[in-house]
Amino acid sequence: MSPSVTVRVPAKVNVQLAVGGVRPDGFHDLANVFLAVGLYDEVTVTPAEELRITCSGPDAGQVPLDASNLAARAALALAARHGRAADVHIHIDKDIPVAGGMAGGSADGAGALLACDALWGTGASREELLDICAELGSDVPFSLVGVAALGRGRGEILTPLAVGGTFHWVFAVADGGLSTPAVYAECDRLREVSGGGSGVADVPEPEPSPALLDALRTGDATALAAAVTNDLQAAAVSLRPSLAATLAAGTGAGALAALVSGSGPTTAFLVRDEAEGEKVADALRSSGTCRSVRVTSGAAPGATVIRAESSP
Ligand code: ATP
Repeated sequence: MSPSVTVRVPAKVNVQLAVGGVRPDGFHDLANVFLAVGLYDEVTVTPAEELRITCSGPDAGQVPLDASNLAARAALALAARHGRAADVHIHIDKDIPVAGGMAGGSADGAGALLACDALWGTGASREELLDICAELGSDVPFSLVGVAALGRGRGEILTPLAVGGTFHWVFAVADGGLSTPAVYAECDRLREVSGGGSGVADVPEPEPSPALLDALRTGDATALAAAVTNDLQAAAVSLRPSLAATLAAGTGAGALAALVSGSGPTTAFLVRDEAEGEKVADALRSSGTCRSVRVTSGAAPGATVIRAESSP
């Protein structure tokens, strides 16, 4: 039997996504409060002749299996730094919606990185792994760290946050994805229009909400519901107007808060407890406004090795 390592990595929801103006490098400065939730991809690596990616799960057909896959890029980056070949088969068992604003690709990048490090015995420090994650993408460091964190810069400069209780969530998965860059561009366009053309330069510095950080720390779902915000929501709804009906269906069924998850089109509903979650999930299913519904909770741990088989 070949040696193998399997890593489990969570999805995220942004409980606050404050978006600043466009920077000279094209990115936006953010105050991005990530919460990891219990939907997971599992990334398994085994030695192979050459780098190869396979994927299973309901959305597997939408996942690129070439060198553009974030898991492949992670393996190549680690191998290059340690002067070795990325001779590995990476299998992604995908449960996180693809292009759904839940950092599914980022999760696979962080998962592959941790898995290859363990398989190859690279012994990379946490700092080096976080460094590679930040090179791979803005959301990748959080997938490694998990639980909850404030992301500054373009989201990659992380400060871990304390979470004082379990938050219950329902996610409504939409048909098809939304491109994250397209949603940021639409956000800029809407700001330009509402600023009468004087626009994006006037956007205030994004700052985390003290009330929101406090609600996370104390585990107070009602207070968190009152504080959640997503500056990309108007842009996501502008590009996908049908999301308004999904948000209304969840709110009408008693969700404490309804918001677009990150750049969407997945929508997130904060609920009081698991029973309330099932009620909101039933209402969303019968509303006909989404493709599927998931009930889960957070905070969830970051990328974790869950299986390691060594050769006999
Ligand atoms: P985020 O929330 O970080 O903005 P997302 O969850 O909206 O991201 P992803 O699921 O990461 O979106 O997919 C975005 C695009 O990234 C996909 O359309 C796909 O082409 C590409 N991609 C690269 N690697 C992966 C991967 N391992 N899994 C899914 N998509 C990937």
